[in-house]
Amino acid sequence: MEKGAEVVIIGGGIIGASIAYHLAKRGMRQVVLLEKENLGEGSTGRCLGGIRYQFSTPIHIRFSLESVHFFAGFQEELGIDPGFKKIGYLFLATTPQCFEILRSNLALLHSFCIPVELLEPEEIRRRWPPLNVADVICGSYCPEEGYAGPHEVLMGYIQGAQRGGCRVYEGVEARGIVVDGDQVAAVDTSQGRICCPWVVNAAGPYAASVGAMAGIDIAVKPIRRQIFTTTPYHRLPGPLPLLIDLERGWYIRREGEGFLLAGPQDEKPSFNLTLDSGLEARSWSAENALHRIPALEAMEINGGWAGLYEISPDQHAILGQVPGLRGFLCANGFSGHGFMHSPVAGRLIAELICEGAVSALDISPFSPTRFQEKRLNPEPMTAFRQ
Ligand SMILES: Cc1cc2nc3c(=O)[nH]c(=O)nc-3n(C[C@H](O)[C@H](O)[C@H](O)COP(=O)(O)OP(=O)(O)OC[C@H]3O[C@@H](n4cnc5c(N)ncnc54)[C@H](O)[C@@H]3O)c2cc1C
Repeated sequence: MEKGAEVVIIGGGIIGASIAYHLAKRGMRQVVLLEKENLGEGSTGRCLGGIRYQFSTPIHIRFSLESVHFFAGFQEELGIDPGFKKIGYLFLATTPQCFEILRSNLALLHSFCIPVELLEPEEIRRRWPPLNVADVICGSYCPEEGYAGPHEVLMGYIQGAQRGGCRVYEGVEARGIVVDGDQVAAVDTSQGRICCPWVVNAAGPYAASVGAMAGIDIAVKPIRRQIFTTTPYHRLPGPLPLLIDLERGWYIRREGEGFLLAGPQDEKPSFNLTLDSGLEARSWSAENALHRIPALEAMEINGGWAGLYEISPDQHAILGQVPGLRGFLCANGFSGHGFMHSPVAGRLIAELICEGAVSALDISPFSPTRFQEKRLNPEPMTAFRQ
């Protein structure tokens, strides 16, 4: 284990890996990435890999635009196919409030030339006959959205970072952050101290505990979401987009010959990673599925998992330098969008370290100080219930 480094990244999920890669790409050689378990074992390994443009704030849409561009060139740049499948996203509004969110997003998305359509219920049924649209006011559909493979993308970043000299350690926990005056000085790990002028908090749902090591309050809460899998199901012909029932906070997409279904999301924060063994969670998911797609009546849930969303108070990430502590950078609180926004998050943190500022984007909506300054910027287009 090194005794010194230029940058220590705490967290070996998609965000830490992207930052490591983007630092290597800029020629930063002495970078150490610490992962307390195995790479990708946190939220990254439990996410659905969804990539979309449909958000309500310009900064999220800009993040998606840059990230999709990066994913399109991922194989050429990193030598691994990220498996980006454009199946489209269909958001359904069943209440006037949800309808208003989709309606007001439309003009914003069109101003970025994103091909989104608002669809009447009849048109939804014409395109996807198995969908029950009896309670639907409208849908918002973009065919350019879809999903990619979290494992492939993670390994692409990690291998790219390692080729650039980054040292990656699994099973090594950051246990303390040493501060000298107003400057970060070192990270204490389960395998010794690493002196460094830069520390990046990329600890996903554990962001607050890593912040606390430096005496910094990070407003990120871990919220459990359960996901269920089904056995192969061939009674539903034709393609299906990634479908999100906004009001119900439920979603579904195909996975191989079966489906992935959203299970319930907890209201209270916790680090609970167990899948409920009782019937309640499965029933919630199955009832939503049958309501929206009656042809799933013979579907059989055969397993699943639970993961943690890393939720910030306004569902926007917390990115950048924390005032009062030089050298401590946050890349936290992606609120369920961290996989898709990992390319741009990695680039921005690397620019802040290597160039002292970011180019091309105003990232003030992600400022770590916005909560104290009461400049919250809510994002209603989330895949989780609020
Ligand atoms: C069910 C579910 C579905 C999702 N679907 C999507 C989706 O479709 N699209 C999308 O963009 N996002 C999705 N997300 C969100 C996405 O998974 C996260 O935003 C993203 O993975 C966050 O990456 P991360 O690297 O910040 O966190 P993580 O992947 O959790 O990585 C953080 C790592 O830090 C490590 N760590 C913590 N503390 C320490 C320490 N002290 N020392 C060393 N290591 C430490 C942890 O072990 C962990 O591996 C989903 C999330 C869930 C739960």
